Amino acid sequence: MKTLASIAAELQGYDPQALTVDGVSAFLSRLVEPVAVQETVGIFLALGRMLARDVISPISVPAHDNSAMDGYAFDAEQFRPGAALTLKVAGTLRAGAGWPHKIAPGECIKIMTGAIMPGGLDTVVPQEFVSMQGSSITIPAGLLHAGDNRRKLGEDLMRGQAALRQGQRLTPAALGLLASLGIEQVAVWRKLRVAYFSTGDEVLSLGQPPREGAVYDSNRYTVFGLLSRLGCEVIDMGVVRDQPALLEAAFTHAAQTADAIITSGGVSVGEADYTKLMMKKLGDVAFWKIAMRPGRPMAVGRIGDAVLFGLPGNPVAVMVTFLAFVRPALLQMMGSTGTAPPMLKAHSTEPLRKKPGRTEYQRGIVSATADGRLQVQTTGNQGSGVLSSMVQANGLIVLAHGQGDVSPGDLVDVMMFEGVI
Ligand code: AMP
Ligand code: MG
Repeated sequence: MKTLASIAAELQGYDPQALTVDGVSAFLSRLVEPVAVQETVGIFLALGRMLARDVISPISVPAHDNSAMDGYAFDAEQFRPGAALTLKVAGTLRAGAGWPHKIAPGECIKIMTGAIMPGGLDTVVPQEFVSMQGSSITIPAGLLHAGDNRRKLGEDLMRGQAALRQGQRLTPAALGLLASLGIEQVAVWRKLRVAYFSTGDEVLSLGQPPREGAVYDSNRYTVFGLLSRLGCEVIDMGVVRDQPALLEAAFTHAAQTADAIITSGGVSVGEADYTKLMMKKLGDVAFWKIAMRPGRPMAVGRIGDAVLFGLPGNPVAVMVTFLAFVRPALLQMMGSTGTAPPMLKAHSTEPLRKKPGRTEYQRGIVSATADGRLQVQTTGNQGSGVLSSMVQANGLIVLAHGQGDVSPGDLVDVMMFEGVI
């Protein structure tokens, strides 16, 4: 486990008071480590989990050459250029059955989709392409090539090949692939345990009566949703009052039970409360100013063995810092080897003011124009407390550190929410 000081020493130009978004990512990728504990789960419970070992295919899929169509199987050697081919139907073969007899020249066999191709036959003509005369069929000239409508042994997977790789997230398609190999259980990394709580004396828990100057705690619910979607085991620790003993107990308990701790509030410069003091007292923690908007203040480090992400209090800043930094770091801890989802490029429908020297995240609504181009408009008020705009948006427009103003029609990067939150 590296100390913050040793990571800082590895990074060129590290300045906690003026970190770039890329600098934060570089730091965090050095700070976190995968939880290297495996467990074996049944296929239904494996959805969304990260594979802990490569899955080697025990069989070939398909296990035999088989028909891709309902039709007639025959040997394409019998084709003569430019001529129709008439064949006698020697029998019928269903999926799941074999054909023990020899098929003589001039014969074919009626075959169902998925049925094993009888020896010596290589091509299937779909039934709707042939004409029948008694027990014979005629295949028109020039319709087929040798090998058409035949699925080859192992064309999906060959026995001994890696079907899935360690660190891959198990998607619906991956579950189906496992099942097609006859595999009922897989080794996955254990779930990441993440404890989170909100801080701030002005923050009310649900159920408390409203009072002047107080706000309901929304961050806990946002963080709960983000963590649940990611596939973490969540440990909800409520709102923690701004008293040293309560904060100390909360951090200590979180560090003992969780792999990561997420807090919101209390990390900005002007904060008079005890959150920062307690982080400093109990852990190895850095307090950052990040060249980004929204976001800016963030505390990061370790308390005991748990990684700490001290997010700002503003509800939109919580989501943006989570998506930009916490999510990739947690994925790394979960053992994921996946890469970040690609950003979309969309044409801005409006001018966007942007100061070079910080990364900006604006809430955007991406849509397709009548001619199929992607365009994006902002949701209007970009205040870092305006959660309703986060609900309207379907992605974040990401304006890079060095970028300046955007003109209408310019292409901008968008981080889409779909599949991410
Ligand atoms: P702070 O980072 O503690 O200075 O908080 C910044 C702003 O976010 C303040 O307006 C807080 O009232 C608000 N805030 C802090 N925590 C929460 C929370 N859990 N839910 C909603 N708003 C919050
Ligand atoms: Mg506060």
